[in-house]
Amino acid sequence: MLNERYRVCPKCQHENGIDANFCLNCGNQLSTDDEELRLPNAGDQHFSHPAVQLDAAEQAAVDQLVVTTGTIPNGFTRGGAVFATGNNQGVRGYKGAWEDLNVNLWRLCVGHHYAGVANLKIVPTVRGDYVELFGYADGLNRN
Ligand SMILES: [Zn+2]
Repeated sequence: MLNERYRVCPKCQHENGIDANFCLNCGNQLSTDDEELRLPNAGDQHFSHPAVQLDAAEQAAVDQLVVTTGTIPNGFTRGGAVFATGNNQGVRGYKGAWEDLNVNLWRLCVGHHYAGVANLKIVPTVRGDYVELFGYADGLNRN
């Protein structure tokens, strides 16, 4: 499954099941306000976007982009905050929205000369078949 929803404890950041009313790690009370969409192993996912034409150099640049929900990887430092959205235009579910978000993240990274993003958090908005993902993250500079 590409996307998973969790109740993320605001106190200790533990990722609890979506139906958890209390944090399994620290016992803090959880509510629907704590629900987040997280992308497990997002850095491992191969970029593809059939609606966008990329030349060989652009595709190579996209393939180099580091995208992770984890902390800033070794060899990188934080360059600044990155905010991006993606949507599926009503088709292809979360996957379409995720790919669109990737394109926009890539454009932002190119514009800011970032090597990628870390600590990526995704906030989904779903209306029927329309899925929009709002992503915020730390832009990465390669050391
Ligand atoms: Zn907790």
